[in-house]
Amino acid sequence: MSSPNAHELPPQKLASEHRICHALTVDVEDYYQVSAFEHRVSRSDWDQHESRVEANTDRLLALFDDCEVRATFFVLGWVAERYPALVRRITASGHQIASHGYWHRLVYDLTPEQFAEDITASVDAIHNACGVRATAYRAPSFSIVERSLWALDILAEHGFTHDSSIFPISGHDRYGMPSATPEIHTISTKRGDLLEFPPTASKISGVTVPVGGGYFRLLPRRVTSAAITQLERIGRPAMFYIHPWEIDPGQPRIRGAGAKSRFRHYVNLARTEPKLRRLIQSHPFGTMQQSLENCPIAPVVQA
Ligand SMILES: [Zn+2]
Repeated sequence: MSSPNAHELPPQKLASEHRICHALTVDVEDYYQVSAFEHRVSRSDWDQHESRVEANTDRLLALFDDCEVRATFFVLGWVAERYPALVRRITASGHQIASHGYWHRLVYDLTPEQFAEDITASVDAIHNACGVRATAYRAPSFSIVERSLWALDILAEHGFTHDSSIFPISGHDRYGMPSATPEIHTISTKRGDLLEFPPTASKISGVTVPVGGGYFRLLPRRVTSAAITQLERIGRPAMFYIHPWEIDPGQPRIRGAGAKSRFRHYVNLARTEPKLRRLIQSHPFGTMQQSLENCPIAPVVQA
């Protein structure tokens, strides 16, 4: 009997045959540090807010343990400095540690010198906390876009080898680079190569569906699942992202934020943890590193 057409195989079977492992990633920051509230909450006041990042990240760690899955945690340097024991719990559980910058400043709002200072401070804070030097980076709000591509040279110069900051979509007010390569690819910078594992967006019924974050909370789980399944069918791993505050319906509300920001931040918080558990149980997930090791398709090189 001839082998069946790969496109007719059930997604799980296809995934296991090709050993696809989707990347499960967490941007470790607190509810008052997000870009949507940066004009309402001054960075100098961050210490004044009730901190919930440790408790929420611990809940994610317990969930991942329960599901026997490992993830990549992009930790904000400010958080690593104040909660070093949390960073140690993340690494002690076998997860990959990575950098989300120090001050959660949008890259395109910084000068190259300020960006270099920010990533250096984040790497130092993480290293001081757990002894690991982060070599993977995710920009706050995916803010490496066309006009901030200079940041890639600086990342390579400072010892980073992996990045997950360039969202190949259009239509979002803070991020997106529609001309960017959606596949995993190697970027040759002036200071060395960087492997770019872009956040994922799939087309479902003609609509672009980013995989993770606010879209995951807003849309039914089956839509995110369909987007992931679509990638499994073509042998590509998805990059899924979530934040600790997205499973915390009890977080204090930020006063004075605009309607769009409030909707994006607070929609479906109470449903996200069980929804995340179901998603993790429905597809094979692992760290960004595990996902790349199991990726059946070699990255394309982009000068
Ligand atoms: Zn962030």
